[in-house]
Amino acid sequence: MSPNSVDGTGNSELVLCPHCDLAQYLPVLAAGEEAHCDRCQQQLDARQYDPILPPALYAASALLMLLLANLFPFVSMAIAGNRSEIHFFDTSAVLFNQFHQSLAILVWLIIQAVPAFCMLAVIYLKIGMLYRLPARIWVARVLFMLKPWSMVDIFLMGLLISFVKLVATAEISLGMSFWAFCLFCLLHLRTFQVLDRHALWASIAPSPQPVLRVKEGHTGLSMQLKLCHCCTAVMPIQQKRCSRCYTRVYARLPASLQKTLALLLTACVLYIPANVLPIMRTVSLGEITDSTIISGFILMWQNGEYPVAIIIFLASVVIPIIKIAVMFWLCFLASTPTLSKGKRNGIIYQLVDWVGRWSMVDVLVVAFMAALVRFGLLASVYPKIGAVLFAAVVITTMLAAVSFDPRLLWDHQPSADNPQAYLNTEGVIK
Ligand SMILES: [Zn+2]
Ligand SMILES: [Zn+2]
Repeated sequence: MSPNSVDGTGNSELVLCPHCDLAQYLPVLAAGEEAHCDRCQQQLDARQYDPILPPALYAASALLMLLLANLFPFVSMAIAGNRSEIHFFDTSAVLFNQFHQSLAILVWLIIQAVPAFCMLAVIYLKIGMLYRLPARIWVARVLFMLKPWSMVDIFLMGLLISFVKLVATAEISLGMSFWAFCLFCLLHLRTFQVLDRHALWASIAPSPQPVLRVKEGHTGLSMQLKLCHCCTAVMPIQQKRCSRCYTRVYARLPASLQKTLALLLTACVLYIPANVLPIMRTVSLGEITDSTIISGFILMWQNGEYPVAIIIFLASVVIPIIKIAVMFWLCFLASTPTLSKGKRNGIIYQLVDWVGRWSMVDVLVVAFMAALVRFGLLASVYPKIGAVLFAAVVITTMLAAVSFDPRLLWDHQPSADNPQAYLNTEGVIK
């Protein structure tokens, strides 16, 4: 079966846009071409030149770099004749030994376990495209579910911020593993860039297609069709599970607004102690200082570390507040048909969803500094409860974004099945 399943006309495949639910027939794409939704401009499909070899090679190289990053010294720090050297794994191991198990497990998951699983899964699935290995459906499902929780890029940003904070008082030396980790980040990013999701699922099983040709420009809901968000298959609305990936599929996520609002309220409640309670304890020449997110920002600003102070302020204060406020606003719009403006709000939703995970940077800075700065009364850093609470805020807002169904923003917008007909039904190919 070619990567593009073919409908009754012999040249295209029916898709429902995951963001606005508009039904469109995709032409068979050539290598390097992309197809975008005609109504909301969301990317519907992108064809890679070689769907098998590049992702497998990038993923294998990334795994090799991750292995090297764990084998050799990562970073060392010298202060007043004392030297501390850590390995990459120590970032979570030290936290675990200091009885911050929840933070240690979280850090280990998002910078080691999940990224490693994703790379292994890509290799397995790519080999599976050639040799039909078992359990590919489950591996693919878990891969796409875990992808947003791989935060190696954010950890790299956290490392750079930590270096800027420490370099004024200590001598920092970068080990071989640090450079291996940088390469791992790049290769990990590149692997997902060249991963052809459509071709991957098509290699597992052809996309199920409705028997009759449906009208473009109508929504899936109006034609009693729904989209599997996991594998992009289109199925009748009565069918409970996707016949290709066995995921439970809903025409609209059940109780989406209620779940999103509940998670947002939880994030609001957690945000207060996360900012009031200290996230980090610093010991310097026997003097103990507990710092909150805001006091840490003020200290950096007073020390003249303006770029880092601005990044921390944006990531830890501005982004969570804006994300929570925007998500509340989108919930309000989705429940108020007369106000809903689908395209603009759809873009805003995608933006806050993408940028929200970067708030984790401050937590990773604390985790890394706690692992590296261990000189007893001379200089030490310890994580405090505020860091755990702030991580909980970030996770809760990420879950809120996942619970929100963006199609609700479009349900009252013009389409062919609404009174104000949506006329332009040509798919946009770039
Ligand atoms: Zn769309
Ligand atoms: Zn599916």
